[in-house]
Amino acid sequence: MGNPSNPVRVDMLKGRPREFSSVGGYPIFYAREGAAHCPVCALEAEQAGDLMDTARVNWEDHELFCDNCSERVESAYGEPEADEPARSVDDSDRREERRQMGLTD
Ligand SMILES: [Zn+2]
Repeated sequence: MGNPSNPVRVDMLKGRPREFSSVGGYPIFYAREGAAHCPVCALEAEQAGDLMDTARVNWEDHELFCDNCSERVESAYGEPEADEPARSVDDSDRREERRQMGLTD
């Protein structure tokens, strides 16, 4: 996990720290000495002379927080609300099913 002798630079996009990977648009975070940094904090640390150890994509940790500003780092696949279908649709489908079977609520 990381190689302190080979620090990474914060990837910039139009003058701002890039928050999503250029390929696929996955959320990026940085780590230094085991602490997660959002891209903004990573850049601030870099400007203060503390280079990040690694740059990573947050694939599916939906409870990853920046250790500096406590902002949540978005995840590529772990968003709990992303794979949950809208409940109201489910309920009306089920009710329609019962109606077709001749059942009433
Ligand atoms: Zn931060």
